[in-house]
Amino acid sequence: MTKTVLHLDLDTFYVSVERRLDTRLLHRPLLVGGISDRGVVAACSYETRAFGVHSGMSMKLARQLCPQATVIRGDAGTYTKFSKEVTDIIKADVPLFEKSSIDEFYADLTGMDRFFGCYKYASELRKRIIRETGLPISFGLSVNKIVSKVATNEAKPNNQLKIDSGFEKEFLAPLSVRKIPMVGDKTYQTLRNLGVRNIRTIQEMPLEMMQKVLGSNGTTLWNRAQGIDHTPVIPYSERKSISTERTFDRDTIDVNKLQSILLAMTENLAYQLRRGDKLTSCIAVKIRYSDFNTYTRQLKIPYTSADHVLIPAIQEIFKKLYNRRLLVRLIGIRFSDLAGGNYQINLFDDNEEVLQLYNAMDKIRNRYGDRSVLRAASMGAKTIGRFTNPFNGEPPVVLAHRKQ
Ligand SMILES: [Mg+2]
Repeated sequence: MTKTVLHLDLDTFYVSVERRLDTRLLHRPLLVGGISDRGVVAACSYETRAFGVHSGMSMKLARQLCPQATVIRGDAGTYTKFSKEVTDIIKADVPLFEKSSIDEFYADLTGMDRFFGCYKYASELRKRIIRETGLPISFGLSVNKIVSKVATNEAKPNNQLKIDSGFEKEFLAPLSVRKIPMVGDKTYQTLRNLGVRNIRTIQEMPLEMMQKVLGSNGTTLWNRAQGIDHTPVIPYSERKSISTERTFDRDTIDVNKLQSILLAMTENLAYQLRRGDKLTSCIAVKIRYSDFNTYTRQLKIPYTSADHVLIPAIQEIFKKLYNRRLLVRLIGIRFSDLAGGNYQINLFDDNEEVLQLYNAMDKIRNRYGDRSVLRAASMGAKTIGRFTNPFNGEPPVVLAHRKQ
């Protein structure tokens, strides 16, 4: 059966939010990120791109390339609020949708054409989001996620594009291979060295040749170039969470020990978030006392996956929660309200060194295991990282969906 999949993506999201809050910034070159010289560009307006500026670049270099740009320190809390506003509008209207990142959504509209006409329906949804939030958003509509995502990118800025069923290959053929989601700098270079520039060339190549060059990624890439993609829209649920807990062999009242275990748990779950390109906006601590009474306390926070934001927040919750001065039998933490996204959102008050530190630590963990690098304060904690879910019994979603 032919599907109808909608991809919605807010245009230069952080930049648009800043302009929504201060209209003087409209049409001006704008950089959002860490404002010190060692800061990093988290988002930049279209006006700055002609100067060679891109996100992830050091703020210092961006300022040199585009000295006339206005530089704004981003605010994760504000972006989280706007992201939720858009989510609420979609949620009220669309039965099956996926929030794939803080500013990106997929919706499965299969079957709705009989009643509404999918394109009309999507157009009206887009208009409503623009009207109610004041934020520009683009969409692509096609038979699958990949083609729709590419269509959205071709439609931008602030526009929409429909690819009729059967025309996927034709639509993709003239585009650069760069436009295929998953083609980063390295793959692009490999393909260029083979003399491949446009998607058409991959379409005409035998599958085996792609496999030879890129292994199993070659198969995915070849399929995507043909406009073939069967990945489903994964329903969004705010309850989705990851969590970890520990039951003590002997009940304890040692607060230092409890705190160092919480720290190790936070560090480990934050790493799981980053590994799955996820952010959390609701964190909770759970304590079970020796009398089996169990208490949880949660806190809504701006989207993050950064240790240095999560650790103090978890400690704060623990301080408020741990007040019975009884022996503790079990403690645990949970991150929920997950959305896709990388930790650039926390770079507004940080600098390149912090980003590089996270990258370096995570690389070691990817290679040697998740306890190969630890904060000194968490080294006393021995057995965290068993991902049972004390809250709802569901498997950890981050591990299940890592690297989509
Ligand atoms: Mg976007």
